[in-house]
Amino acid sequence: MSEVVHVPLGARAYDVHIGPDLLGCAGARLAPLLRRPRVAVISDANVAALHMETLTSGLAAQGITAQTLVLPAGEGTKCWAQLTACVDWLLDQQIERGDVVVAFGGGVIGDLVGFAAAVLRRGVRFVQIPTSLLAQVDSSVGGKTGINTRHGKNLVGAFHQPSLVLADTAVLGTLAPRDFLAGYGEVVKYGLLGDAAFFDWLEGQGPALAAGDSAARVEAVRRSVQMKADIVVRDETEQGERALLNLGHTFGHALEAATGYSDRLLHGEGVAIGCVLAFELSARMGLCAQEVPGRVRAHLAAMGMKVDLRDIDGDLPDAQALLALMGQDKKVVEGRLRFILARGIGAAFVTGDVAQADVMALLEEALAQ
Ligand code: NAD
Repeated sequence: MSEVVHVPLGARAYDVHIGPDLLGCAGARLAPLLRRPRVAVISDANVAALHMETLTSGLAAQGITAQTLVLPAGEGTKCWAQLTACVDWLLDQQIERGDVVVAFGGGVIGDLVGFAAAVLRRGVRFVQIPTSLLAQVDSSVGGKTGINTRHGKNLVGAFHQPSLVLADTAVLGTLAPRDFLAGYGEVVKYGLLGDAAFFDWLEGQGPALAAGDSAARVEAVRRSVQMKADIVVRDETEQGERALLNLGHTFGHALEAATGYSDRLLHGEGVAIGCVLAFELSARMGLCAQEVPGRVRAHLAAMGMKVDLRDIDGDLPDAQALLALMGQDKKVVEGRLRFILARGIGAAFVTGDVAQADVMALLEEALAQ
């Protein structure tokens, strides 16, 4: 049995199906969207090797044929060259305005293929079949698509909502443990930003979830997707509240940049460390109780995640340089850094009212630990 979260965005509304073994019945779920029984599926090499056959069989069961393109795995694929490759390939396959493109992979494939679908013939529909925990709880829902350029991450893109999302929780079983935990960083983020009861639940269920408990995985993905959907529906193009989803990201993006977007620090790991720093800053500014950052840190540590700057291998730049990297974040408005801070677990808010000296002091201490 799968769960369904509806994303009620008017003409752009869609369903997110969440449950084990959805690949096998993908054909039945996609068929109502199709004007002819064929789709173009784009994936990465890791996901394709493990799961493409299950997906294409699931489509074939309903008489749907799939043309497939397999790209290299990794963040480097979210680039202009691969965007061109995707769009040209889709045109080679004679994908028409009424056809559907399938993004089958983690957040990298989802963002790239979603953007290709957004610009192909001025916009064709696409379906997200997210295969990483991060993609299931975050990037496949909400319609942000795009690529990285030499100027930074996600600087070129479009809002383009998928027509359907199939989050098959069984495929999470083949994720490397480190990739799973990086995605868990985003799950914890939802509890921290807006749902204290969910954070309590994660403190209890997190270890079972990481060990592979299917029901716990479905529930964690469902609650995360529901929260993201609720926020996206109220603020689709991030004029206000959607920025809350960036809890931990201002610090996290600076750390990702400082480590060269490399294996030294995965995106979700940066978010988790960034959440701890955001709660530390909130406590220092007297916004939340002093013991709250310790509780956040304790849960992440119990899950075996990176928590502090010293958990990142190799040298980091000094506090001044990290602050400068934070200044390049997309969330800078008129030169002022915007932070997501919290009055407690589940009570985050957006503010531009943070003294640079407080951030510097926090970073200096965090680096000295
Ligand atoms: P990813 O797509 O690179 O996947 C991580 C790794 O896991 C890759 O090596 C991939 O091949 C592998 N993988 C994926 N599914 C697998 C499976 N089931 N079994 C085995 N291996 C599997 O990265 P990610 O962490 O999924 O996503 C990160 C990207 O998402 C970043 O580019 C980030 O900017 C983007 N993102 C976008 C949004 C959004 O709203 N659009 C939100 C958050 C993050």
